[in-house]
Amino acid sequence: MSAAGQVGNSQAYCRLWGTRGSIPISGQQFVRHGGNTPCIEVFMDGHRVIIDAGTGIYPLGQDLVKRGPAKHALFISHTHWDHIQGFPFFTPIYVPGNEVDIYGPAEAGSDLIDRFADMMKHEFFPVALKEVTAALRFHDLDDQSATIPIGPLAVSWVATDHPCASAGFRVTGPSGKSVAYLSDNEFLKGYLGMPQDVPLRPDLLEPYSRILKFIENVDVLIAEAQYTDEEYSGRIGWGHSSLSSLCLLCKLCNVKKWIVVHHDPLHDDAFLDQKLVHTKQILRGLDWDAEVIHAADGMSVPV
Ligand SMILES: [Zn+2]
Ligand SMILES: [Zn+2]
Repeated sequence: MSAAGQVGNSQAYCRLWGTRGSIPISGQQFVRHGGNTPCIEVFMDGHRVIIDAGTGIYPLGQDLVKRGPAKHALFISHTHWDHIQGFPFFTPIYVPGNEVDIYGPAEAGSDLIDRFADMMKHEFFPVALKEVTAALRFHDLDDQSATIPIGPLAVSWVATDHPCASAGFRVTGPSGKSVAYLSDNEFLKGYLGMPQDVPLRPDLLEPYSRILKFIENVDVLIAEAQYTDEEYSGRIGWGHSSLSSLCLLCKLCNVKKWIVVHHDPLHDDAFLDQKLVHTKQILRGLDWDAEVIHAADGMSVPV
């Protein structure tokens, strides 16, 4: 068995196995950006960290079982359906010899293991959590200052602004290279003004000081800006960020590479193309030069 998914490879990349928000989606309007709900693989220094168990974890699991039994580290941002619904179809949990450590933010009144067991009750799924043959270990994260070692990688987390206990993650390799994942987070909740004006209003930024520090200087940011500014005005409190707010976050945190994930179900390929043009306009208006990529399932991005 290899430790923590080790395959002895010096490449560093993130692979985006699921990039849609809310529900999986397909069809003629979604040829380039259709597919699975969130699942991200971060691979550095021969070790792998998996983030979220949306339906994208199914093709990842198929890939992993071909490599033989291993110890896997799975970080769950939160337990809304789109971030866990692929877990019962994650093939490694049915292969003896595999070990899976599952980490997620502590939620008052229910343990992570109980939420996963509920999802796999017989009314919803034919195999109960206790019947799976891999060794599963669940870890409730309650200390944001804690760092979880995965081989030589360090995973840290920060609470995000979302309607349930929710986390963003940052994976740092021994060389100092890092990838952060910040999905399902409402940055600058309720703000509808110009992003240029926000730095003049420290009261607006203060509630997000921990998140801003967490993301600062990351090499690759994988994050959502699910709504255009127009859409956001009607969706305040839904737990997702506006385009302008995330563009500003990139500037404030010195982000040079932003991979946009968790595409809204209403946003098809044509709409996303327009949204990307608009994103670049907003960044220019902020005088911030960052590479922006709209994630698509199966895409690999070097770190
Ligand atoms: Zn989501
Ligand atoms: Zn959510």
